[in-house]
Amino acid sequence: MKDNADIVIVGGGIWGLSTAYHVARTGKAGRIVVLERNDELADETTRQAAGQIGQLRSHPVMARAVGYTLDLLTRFKDETGHDPGIRTTGSLHLALNERRMAAFEAQIDAARAHNIDIEVADDALIHRVAPSIDTSQLTGAIFVHGDGYVDARQTALAFAAAARDLGVDVRTGQHVNGLTFDADGRTAGVTTDEGSIDANHVVITAGPWTPLLAEAAGFTPPSHGIRLQQARTAPDPAMPDDHPVVRIPDHSCYLRPEHGGYLFGYFDPEPTALDPRGLSADFRTSDIAPPIDIVEESRRLLGPIMPPVASLPIDEYRQGMVTCTPDGWYVLGPVPNRGGLWVATACAAMGIAGSGAVGNWLAQWMTTGDPGDDLSMMVPDRFGTINDADALREACRQTCASYYSLDGGATYSVGART
Ligand SMILES: Cc1cc2nc3c(=O)[nH]c(=O)nc-3n(C[C@H](O)[C@H](O)[C@H](O)COP(=O)(O)OP(=O)(O)OC[C@H]3O[C@@H](n4cnc5c(N)ncnc54)[C@H](O)[C@@H]3O)c2cc1C
Repeated sequence: MKDNADIVIVGGGIWGLSTAYHVARTGKAGRIVVLERNDELADETTRQAAGQIGQLRSHPVMARAVGYTLDLLTRFKDETGHDPGIRTTGSLHLALNERRMAAFEAQIDAARAHNIDIEVADDALIHRVAPSIDTSQLTGAIFVHGDGYVDARQTALAFAAAARDLGVDVRTGQHVNGLTFDADGRTAGVTTDEGSIDANHVVITAGPWTPLLAEAAGFTPPSHGIRLQQARTAPDPAMPDDHPVVRIPDHSCYLRPEHGGYLFGYFDPEPTALDPRGLSADFRTSDIAPPIDIVEESRRLLGPIMPPVASLPIDEYRQGMVTCTPDGWYVLGPVPNRGGLWVATACAAMGIAGSGAVGNWLAQWMTTGDPGDDLSMMVPDRFGTINDADALREACRQTCASYYSLDGGATYSVGART
């Protein structure tokens, strides 16, 4: 089979599907094809996500990215007819020591400058929105209005449906096994198990599998896959329907409601690095075994603050891979020395929160030459050539481990990034 397109997007996770939707929406791109190797869309990292969308960010570009995504998803159903499943419940950030609380308070003015509605949360507010929290355990808290969460797979499928409405050819069961280049080294298309597709632009949004294709173009992304895990308790009948997202950065934990229970996650201080390049070609996130000991450690930490999380039975374990960089920022933009090849990976466990902006940046960049924001912090070659794979892996593990750290978290200031 031989085919052609203007743009081929490799990977039908939330980033690939948001990109397809945004490029199609410009009306300037011609024929767009999305190729997903699985039989289902958004069945890898995106399916595993907690889907939390938090506005507090340590960099203005990311603050704008999340603001864009929230605004887009809030309007999406009205504008496209497809429901991305957003819940804007707000988020509580709990401080367990004076230093954290001081850092929260110091964030308030900066957040308000970004039009984020934020306040110090007293016990009455906490009891009202999240009655299972034992406030005697807290030094203080802040509440961020307008934060929320999505069912990330539903959001991705909404992007896919809206893209299809705009004429995008979204295909599943299509494994891209290589890239093609013309005599000058410019990108010419992709090969799949069923044939080839010529294209002017190829976008690799293959999540943790991105290096497998990018390296065929001579480019090693400065990122590494890191296991991340969460679990969901059985329903708590006392949980209010509009229970907010709760972040406890001093314990590197977060939680949100799901199916009436608590979906809670933990940034392990010694995270496991996973590299699809060293695993079987068939490796999927569903092959990752539930790290029950780590989930139990997070339950031990959360128990005194939210007793139901420790006492309710676990209904589901959920684990996947996030991709991290040494500096904690996405890897997004043109691949050096390979005209027509683009990459977007290294979601840094905040890829749902930024998913709208990722698609919008790539669409603007490909169709006008300008992403619309200064993305120098994310350009793929910002670390130069990667020569030391071990050092890269360790730096990426450290980024993930220190996600909520007040000391040394590469990009974390005082809020939460998810
Ligand atoms: C436990 C956990 C909790 C998380 N919580 C949050 C959160 O609360 N908030 C947040 O913002 N983010 C969160 N994330 C991160 C979020 O899940 C990711 O940022 C996001 O899903 C990345 O989407 P993606 O499209 O880049 O990758 P993926 O969803 O992995 O999509 C990549 C796709 O490419 C396909 N593919 C790979 N290779 C090929 C090939 N050769 N040919 C064709 N297709 C291919 C794959 O099958 C896959 O479908 C969490 C992640 C985990 C694991």
